[in-house]
Amino acid sequence: MSYKPNLAEDFAFSDLHCHSYCSDGELSPRELVARAADKGVRILALTDHDTVDGVAEARAASDDYALKLIPGVELTALWGKRVVHIVGLGFDPDNPGLQVYLQDLKKLRDQRAELIAARLVKKGCPDLLEKAKALAGEGQIGRPHFAQAMVAARVVDSPAKAFSLYLGAGKPGDIKVDWPDMVAAITCLHQAGGCAVLAHPTKYKLTFTKIREMIAAFAESGGDGIEARYPGVDPGQTRQIEIAAQRHGLLLSAGSDFHCTGFSWSELGKYPKAPDSEMHILNQLL
Ligand code: AMP
Ligand code: MN
Ligand code: MN
Ligand code: MN
Repeated sequence: MSYKPNLAEDFAFSDLHCHSYCSDGELSPRELVARAADKGVRILALTDHDTVDGVAEARAASDDYALKLIPGVELTALWGKRVVHIVGLGFDPDNPGLQVYLQDLKKLRDQRAELIAARLVKKGCPDLLEKAKALAGEGQIGRPHFAQAMVAARVVDSPAKAFSLYLGAGKPGDIKVDWPDMVAAITCLHQAGGCAVLAHPTKYKLTFTKIREMIAAFAESGGDGIEARYPGVDPGQTRQIEIAAQRHGLLLSAGSDFHCTGFSWSELGKYPKAPDSEMHILNQLL
């Protein structure tokens, strides 16, 4: 039996952004749902990067707990030349248009992986393609798998170092990809019956003037909501995001962006909580 949430009571126990091993997370979808329930989460969206492969397992697992599972995805997209992440929520995961869209993203990620490996070899690293592929398994391959492969090959001593030296913005492994435009991502999510939410707006290394521009463009492109509460955002930033959201008629979303166990600062259900549910994107999803 699937859990029937009560928005007024349960919105504070929701987490609308997290990852399983179907992308760059550690846990299986079932383990993720079990852990979320254990941490008191009642409404969970699994939002793997560019794949919905974990949604069916997560949904089946959610039946064993007092937890409502919302289908989700975190789409990699472009706003102009900048990469942005768009969280899709509440769509039909079997929608054919969405499936084709995600297959294209898989091709882009597989091609990028080969280019990343080649670029790292040029910088003196061993060829890490097979190791990174093995770490990704059946899931969408991403830069975190290369970071792990670099640690395993003792090129660096931590994933954070791998990003700061090799994989982060402007570094050799930060390969330019012609990801679909923000409008295409939003349109795809809508035609699959879902909502589009601009993820973690302060995490793109933009000034607040640029962030406001991005929020305006996202709303103009048909976006439905924006994350205002997530680990690392401060109360002043949340306030500014909320003001911009209100100006452009965007609803508010929130989540932990949980990837793996073992970090006290990152946990399912853990992010700065809102005092009320009025503007929450869950109003549109439940
Ligand atoms: P990708 O989607 O393959 O481009 O990789 C982006 C992912 O890498 C993000 O979703 C994070 O999980 C991870 N990531 C990005 N920057 C860092 C960083 N500085 N340190 C560790 N992980 C990072
Ligand atoms: Mn990630
Ligand atoms: Mn993201
Ligand atoms: Mn994420």
